[in-house]
Formats: sequence, C-alpha cells, structure tokens
Amino acid sequence: MKLYQHSIHKLHKLLKSKDINSLELTKSVLQHIEEVEPYLNAFITIMKETALEQAKEADKKIASGKISALTGIPLGIKDLICIKGVSTTCASKILENFISPYDATVIEKLRQEGAVFIGKLNMDEFAMGSSTETSYFGPTKNPWNLDYIPGGSSGGSAAATAAGECIASLGSDTGGSIRQPASHCGIVGLKPTYGRVSRYGLVAFASSLDQIGPMTRDVRDCSIFLEAISGYDRRDSTSVSKDVPHFSASLGEEIKGLRIGIPQEYFGKGLDPDVQTTIDRAIRDLVSLGARVEEISLPHTEYVVAVYYIIAPAEASSNLARYDGVKYGYRTENSKDLAEMLNKTRTEGFGKEVIRRIMLGTYSLSAGYYDAYYKKASQVRTLLINDFKEAFDKCDILLTPISPIPPFKIGEKMNDPLTMYLTDIYTIAANLSGIPGLSMPYGKSKAGLPIGIQLLGNYFDEETILKTAFMLEQEKSNWTIDCLYSKYEKTGTK
Ligand code: GLN
Repeated sequence: MKLYQHSIHKLHKLLKSKDINSLELTKSVLQHIEEVEPYLNAFITIMKETALEQAKEADKKIASGKISALTGIPLGIKDLICIKGVSTTCASKILENFISPYDATVIEKLRQEGAVFIGKLNMDEFAMGSSTETSYFGPTKNPWNLDYIPGGSSGGSAAATAAGECIASLGSDTGGSIRQPASHCGIVGLKPTYGRVSRYGLVAFASSLDQIGPMTRDVRDCSIFLEAISGYDRRDSTSVSKDVPHFSASLGEEIKGLRIGIPQEYFGKGLDPDVQTTIDRAIRDLVSLGARVEEISLPHTEYVVAVYYIIAPAEASSNLARYDGVKYGYRTENSKDLAEMLNKTRTEGFGKEVIRRIMLGTYSLSAGYYDAYYKKASQVRTLLINDFKEAFDKCDILLTPISPIPPFKIGEKMNDPLTMYLTDIYTIAANLSGIPGLSMPYGKSKAGLPIGIQLLGNYFDEETILKTAFMLEQEKSNWTIDCLYSKYEKTGTK
C-alpha cells in the first residue's frame, strides 16, 4: 500500500514509531494529487508549499516527543472554512479572490494538533446543491466512476478522501452535505449535533442548520477527527458548553440490546431497490450483533423537504446579503451608480442556483408572506423536533437510507431542481432538529457505485452512533465492494 492509502490511526502509529515522517507522507499525497486531480477536480486550491512547511514543523514536533492523533496528517478542507492567508471561494465567482484574514476555530484546533492542510476542496456554490455541479470551478467527479456525481455539497471532500488525495477532510452539512457525498463516494461522514463544533470561520449558508464535520475512510478515523474539532467556543453564540467525550474509547463495545428504530416513513415510494437491499443487509447485521430492531414512526416526515426549502433559503437570503461588492469579493466593472453596482455585482457574481435560493428566501420572508411560509415552516420544524424526541424515548439509534437513489450521472438532474431537492429527504430532518447523523458505506448500486446507510442519534450522543457504526464496519467485512484504489486505477487512467 502507498502511504496516502492509509487511515489516520495507522499513519499515527507509523509516525509515532518513526517508521515514516510527515514530509514523506505529505509528498506521497501531493504526488498522488498530481496524478489524479486532472480527472477528479476535487480541489479549488492546492496548498503545496505551506503543506510541505507544515509537514516539516510536524516532524520537528514529533522529534521532540509531542505527537497527538492528527500531528503530521494531511487533511483537505472544504472551501468554505477559513484558513488565514488562503483563499476561501465557496466555489463562487463572488469570492474568487477573497483571502481569509483569520483561521476558523476548527482550523485553529487542527493547527494546535500539528495537522497538515493539503488544500481547499471543491463544493456546490455556497454549499447549495447535492451533486457538486453548481461549483463555479466546474464539477467534481466520483472517483468510482468519472461519469457520476460524487454527491454534494461536500463532493470535493468526499472524492478527495475516497481517492487518496488527502487522508481525511472537513465538510459542512446544512441538509446532508457531509453524509450524502460520503455515501456516494464510499466513505464515512458525520454531522455532529448542532452546537458540538464551532461554526466560527465557516461561511454561513443557513446558520441554524450548518455544522462542520469529519469525512474519513473509517469509523475510528471519524471518532478521532471529531474529538479534535469539537468543543465550546465563545466566538460562536450557538456553540454548546459540553464535555467532549473520548469518542474512540467506546469503539469495540458490544451493542447487544441496543434499540434500533426503523422509521417506516423513510421506506415509501421512490426508494431505489439497491438502497433497500443495502438497508436490509444492515438490519440483518444489527440483529446478528444482538441489537433489537423495531419499526417506529416519524409522522411529520412528509413535510421535511418543504420546511427545509423554506427555512434554508430564508436564512441564506439574509446571510448572503453581505456580498454587495462594497467591502470584499467581486465587484462589477461598469456601473453608473450604487444601485446598479449592487445589482450587477450580485447578478454577475452568483450562479443560477444561488440566485434561485436568494429569491425563494426573500420571497418567503417578505411582508405578507412571512406568516404563510417562514412562520408556518418554523412551527412544523417544532413538530419534527418532537417526532425525534418521541422516537428517542423508545430507541437509542435510528437506521435510515441516506439518499433514495444511488449516485447519478453528471448532468442528469441539473435542469430539474425540484427532483434534486427531493433527494435530500432523508438527511435534512437531522439538521432541522439538530441531532447528529453518520453515513457509512454498506452496499453498492447496479452501476457499481457505493451506497451508504445513515445512523441518527440523540442530541450529543455521537458516541452511540460511532460505536454502532464501528460494529457494523467489522460485520460488513464479510462482503466487499471493489477495492477503491484498483477501481480508481481502472477509471482514473481511462
Ligand atoms: N442538498 C441540500 C441543499 O442543497 C443540502 C446542502 C448542504 O447540506 N449544504 O441545500
């Protein structure tokens, strides 16, 4: 195996025992990026020089005996998380030349650990999308088959992690953007409980829904990475002051007697048979691990897409009002007065999907419509929250699909936003309610692309999710999906 193919925990051991150093690891990743990036387009910025510097620093740290879990590990960062002195584009023309003046809190934490930032990853523009096709910098391809989407909006993070262009990555999840691309690319992705991870330095899409989270190749890496970025931050007013558990400590604990709920509303019309088969296999494995699986109900599920597509665009329209060409970002070149400057800057700077969301949001917030749309959606949101509260009185974990359909071909749904929105149905409820959710690979589609399953947990109970996922990960080793890298070599070299 090449160095870039290993997990965080394996590389940590090798670094600690001094069998390898961070510089050679980082070089191995950078060289692999050179080979595969022309096919994948997972990066917006590759931070070659600074990454090599950081690797040397990490090696010094290790030499002096100071090594923690992420020291010297090359990580990819979704391009809406600020790294000081590096561009943060949000995959938008409007921020194409914006350089972050400060580090996000998660970046500060990773710096303290001595991690290496390998680059900024592609995404849907302003994280609006489910396929990474709305990026101003062009679509990212799925490393399993280059004709297919990697999912979105953190498609760059998922593709890069799956293909070995970084060891793990950070994504953000407003309605499924960590979990769904993780599922489509065959990796593990976790959206933490709202408030677990600081949003300071994350460019806002919908502030009451956004969370940063880890995207990794296995469950242990996910636990390690989550622990490193979690914790209270006074600079984020929605951050919650709670102890951060040692997440990887409970991995390997039995799940005998654990109560697993299967929400019946998640298995209706439109669910692809390959997705159903994948869930059925997970249920069988959970039962054989001693868990108690029972059907439950989340009665307001039919409203989640409507509620999300009112609340998220409403918040986005307010958050994106700051891009006006005055203070920073793109400004139109020819305008005769302020009004025209604002208008042209935004029309030229934003892509079609972002403009659609801003229009939807301003409409539902406007006088005369506010009560009918935004207020109503907020009321139904409370009902959704209550659904989960009741479910978690009866169960410890919920098992659901991630997406009703496996990865589809690039371009297939670009002109059909409504169908695209509907594919978010199984992931957005976790954001509307704030509960944590994890996606892990558990099957494959007829076209040979990965299909994930979702584990949803109670507030701040990422531990139970992770230990369940870990047991399933061991269990599923009795079936295999085509090896990531051999598959890559077939598609990547054409
Ligand atoms: N697909 C959803 C949307 O387009 C979710 C995006 C996200 O989680 N950032 O809004």
